[in-house]
Amino acid sequence: MEESKEKEVIKEVKSDDASKRRKRVNAIKRFIVSMVIIGILLPNLMCMYLFVKLEKINHRLNDIDVAIAEINDKFVVEEVQAEDEIYYSPDKLEELVIPVDNENIVSDSELYEGRKRVYLTFDDGPSKYTDEILDILNEYNIKATFFVLAKDGYDDQYNRIVREGNTLGIHSYSHVYDTIYASEDSFREDVTAVADYVYNVTGLKVEFYRFPGGSSNRVSSVPTSSFINILNENNLVYFDWNVASGDAVSSPLSSSQIYNNVINGCAGRDDCVVLMHDAVGKHSTVEALPSIIEKLQSEGAVFLPITEGTNQITHKIND
Ligand code: ZN
Repeated sequence: MEESKEKEVIKEVKSDDASKRRKRVNAIKRFIVSMVIIGILLPNLMCMYLFVKLEKINHRLNDIDVAIAEINDKFVVEEVQAEDEIYYSPDKLEELVIPVDNENIVSDSELYEGRKRVYLTFDDGPSKYTDEILDILNEYNIKATFFVLAKDGYDDQYNRIVREGNTLGIHSYSHVYDTIYASEDSFREDVTAVADYVYNVTGLKVEFYRFPGGSSNRVSSVPTSSFINILNENNLVYFDWNVASGDAVSSPLSSSQIYNNVINGCAGRDDCVVLMHDAVGKHSTVEALPSIIEKLQSEGAVFLPITEGTNQITHKIND
């Protein structure tokens, strides 16, 4: 009896052990399975999470790129003007005066013989100062020439320039020298783009062009004469300048410095094509205008817009 009890106890203990072992094995199995699942699933989930994050970052980078491009657009004019400085030192320019050669046209020099003829030219506009410049021109009852860029949001200013009898010429679409002067094709593309832009806004077929940096610029490795041929193909006449107001420099000049540059530059010249800028940061140019006009008018000068009756002022090109 005792013996069978003992056996039973041993049996119980054994089955107890077996079930414990089974449980342990099961637990180990579960552990292994869950580890495998975690090992596969977790990296996948992490990958998915990181992928979503990456997409978000890419989107943000895109947004930032667009914002930077917009900011660059706004400041391109100022950047390029600093670049222009090299070309504005008057002693580096050799000017040519090409007389009007068309019997059907009465030239300015015939119309205003014996008088100094001053052609104020404003590059890089329109800008927030265009209206102010136009108001001053109206106040003195004179006309000028605007060599414009393609800038959205200034339709009124483009049209006002034309409506009030000034000459609207073109300067550049992008104003990025390296792009414009990269090849004949890119030059043609820039010129026709800005001409089309102006035509769409004003209905005007432009006739006059100013090279960014002047025709004497040394940015281009393509001969300037090739670019001039392209202008001719498009019925465009280019004008450089023989008087630099000096307002292209990156640190703005005072209005009295600009006044002195213009008055001194015009001294001894019959035809004065004055380079000025209608652009952000160039308000001292606007401030200098009335005194420049008054001084030169008091000396008998006449202020005119560039037309086909104007002697063409160019720089000696560096081909
Ligand atoms: Zn310019």
